[in-house]
Amino acid sequence: MIEHLKQIEQEMIQIRRHFHKNPELAFKEENTPKYISEYLTKLGVEHEANFGGNGVVAKIKGSGEGKTIALRADFDALPIQDEKDVAYRSEIPGVMHACGHDAHTAALLGIANIASKNRDEFNGEIRLIFQHAEELSPGGAISMLKAGCLEGVDAIFGVHVASDVPTGMASYGYGPVMANADDFTIEINGKGGHAATPQLTIDPIIIGSSIVQSFQQIVSRRVDPLEPAVISICKFISGTAFNIIPDSCLLEGTVRTYSEEVQEIIINEMDQILKAECEKFGATYKLRYGKGYPAVINHDAETTLFKEVLEKQSKKIEVKPPKMGGEDFSYYLKERPGAFFFIGARNEAKNAIYPHHHPKFDIDEDAILHCAEALLGVALAYLR
Ligand code: MN
Repeated sequence: MIEHLKQIEQEMIQIRRHFHKNPELAFKEENTPKYISEYLTKLGVEHEANFGGNGVVAKIKGSGEGKTIALRADFDALPIQDEKDVAYRSEIPGVMHACGHDAHTAALLGIANIASKNRDEFNGEIRLIFQHAEELSPGGAISMLKAGCLEGVDAIFGVHVASDVPTGMASYGYGPVMANADDFTIEINGKGGHAATPQLTIDPIIIGSSIVQSFQQIVSRRVDPLEPAVISICKFISGTAFNIIPDSCLLEGTVRTYSEEVQEIIINEMDQILKAECEKFGATYKLRYGKGYPAVINHDAETTLFKEVLEKQSKKIEVKPPKMGGEDFSYYLKERPGAFFFIGARNEAKNAIYPHHHPKFDIDEDAILHCAEALLGVALAYLR
């Protein structure tokens, strides 16, 4: 059945270009799910629109009883101005498919097409999850899960095109493949005054500096050295003039981890340090800690299955260290076994060389077929 995908490769590319020209932002998708729904209707595929928001969930039942396998594609775009010089560039000012979600959705529609016409070739059900709003917290996955998109599902798989992996290759990892990507803001309130009478002030810059230093000791002295963790303070704002001690200072930064235990240790330690440093000087603080998407953690058996499927499709595959970015596919993997793989989409000859979220980001469109082959391949292997 997988070989039939090649026959509709041009159609998948046209679908991708349609989405690329007409991108929609997270939580504001209207025409994209409408297009998906209309395409599924034309195929006669049972589906539900407005699923957990703007999502669409399709069910393709095979000829006999069997397991249910879910495949997920996201379909939202980003608030970036498209700066590519191609016929299919975005026609919506300031909005662009700069992460390749258009390719994921085109591939999943291709699978809907082929699987629905070859139902006698598999047992069980292929569930297609077209997810809205991956790019913006809290993400679309949570609401789609709440609406029951995984009810009756045994396992779930997803892919992401990758601009750092050449076309024809795939990359993956066991366990964590993407990080907990959190952000924080700290406000320290002291007491301002004249630079020449520091004894009458509570200097927030001194306190802030000391906090920046102490935070670096959390990773080096409180976290297991075999556990990856990063704390970066990337913004430190305070003061107005060379001779005025300011009232307050603002620190902002990010924490990246792979385990929830380490994440909790870091949050606790940050709070301890803030409390101690501020008490010492008589200052007060406010800590706002924003948990981003949890880490994407692949399950072993499903990762092995997916890897074997790609090997059979004679894709070159490599194990890559986890990426520090975030993905809300993580929520599905907390509910069901599954795996998330990266499909190469980089090609110098086609100018597909820019990183994700770049105004000139583009993919080698050969990757669309590769995504479809990978996902349909793993679904059929699982249902066998
Ligand atoms: Mn993405």
